[in-house]
Amino acid sequence: MSTATIPDDPQLRSRFSELKPPLAPQAALLEANRCLYCFDAPCTAACPTHIDVPGFIKRIASGNLRGSALRILDANILGGSCARACPVEVLCEGACVMHRYNRAPIQIGLLQRHAIDAFHASGEDLPVATQIARNLRVACIGAGPASLACAAELRSQGASVSILERRALPGGLNTYGVAEYKLRTAESLREVELIRRMGVDFQFNAAIDSAAALNALESEFDFIFLGVGLGAMQRLDIPGEDAEGVMNALELIAAYKTGHLHQVHGTVVVVGAGNTAIDAANAARRLGADTVYMLYRRGESDISAFSFEYEHARQEGVQFLWRRTPVSIRIGPHGLLLLDTVQVQQTGDTLSPIPDSQSTITCNMVVPAIGQSPLTQLVQQFRHVEVRNGHIVADRATGQTGHPRYFAGGDCVNGGREVVDAVADGKRAALAMLNLAEVPRA
Ligand code: SF4
Repeated sequence: MSTATIPDDPQLRSRFSELKPPLAPQAALLEANRCLYCFDAPCTAACPTHIDVPGFIKRIASGNLRGSALRILDANILGGSCARACPVEVLCEGACVMHRYNRAPIQIGLLQRHAIDAFHASGEDLPVATQIARNLRVACIGAGPASLACAAELRSQGASVSILERRALPGGLNTYGVAEYKLRTAESLREVELIRRMGVDFQFNAAIDSAAALNALESEFDFIFLGVGLGAMQRLDIPGEDAEGVMNALELIAAYKTGHLHQVHGTVVVVGAGNTAIDAANAARRLGADTVYMLYRRGESDISAFSFEYEHARQEGVQFLWRRTPVSIRIGPHGLLLLDTVQVQQTGDTLSPIPDSQSTITCNMVVPAIGQSPLTQLVQQFRHVEVRNGHIVADRATGQTGHPRYFAGGDCVNGGREVVDAVADGKRAALAMLNLAEVPRA
């Protein structure tokens, strides 16, 4: 049985036209031939999964797209989503030597996408043996990038792997949380399907949220990988927050990506100024909001979003309100929301409200986007696994926790970084488990 899909929505496609359209074959060839194929390639060093960038680009230049894709997927099984969702400006492309010569960096992300898209279009499976060749059984909790990378590596080396996911679809934030103009849900699911065809077992709507459920896993599997991500978005903790019309950034992104939200109207206020807040603000614009404000308690120079994301939001028409914070939400006439705010002043590290600075924004929607909370309640189930500040403590090199049968990686360990970091974590943990496991059967 294939992994679940969602129906194609042409309206969504046109509203969320791609930020970076694919390269045409001739353009890809020309771009690949610009690469200098550096010996100690800094682009490869800058990639957390150490994709052989000159190696895959050289194969594109010689017309070997299949070989190029296999080179990428060998290092990073989610090379397709990373090609679209990675902040390449600060990773591989940011490290490209072309910058030293005042030339545009090689478009590594688009070339990577070119090769991977061709591979998916071919319908080919990865050339890995699908039979179980090791006495090693692993359960991965969560079907996000860390677990997917862990499972793919284990399967490709003959282990038996099951992924248990509490939601209806796999892919984690790739499926539910990355802006559609960067990575489409269908593209995330297509990538998961490739992993399923390697022989990874997927179980959906399978929440591991009790000691009994963990006991059952421990008796069935040799190792357990925790790729559970972070918790829900943090609440604003202000009166009126549960009013209709308040929807946090991740809920908003997931709702439109899965076909549950098609349009928004009027004025939308996003509270926060991180990358997810910007994705939500841009989404509100593309879904039809006339005016979108981003409200941030600090100043422009303190914004946590990447500078290119900030610039993109400005181009989408998002307006920024600096040094202002929400204090309450009230219901106004005609079902509108009244968002009461105050100006904030900063003294050293301390923020305090400025007296008599209250003002009210009348809006249709308020979107809290002030970061995800740690998964404290869930991770407490993982007995003997140390949790510090709501994040699982795991060895950086192996992903092994204080409990020798438990490994962990991705956002639940690093607190929320890029997809490519989660992939690197998952793969490292898989290799560590394989090292600990017995040798292959004869
Ligand atoms: Fe090619 Fe730039 Fe990487 Fe050198 S640093 S191998 S030019 S992509």
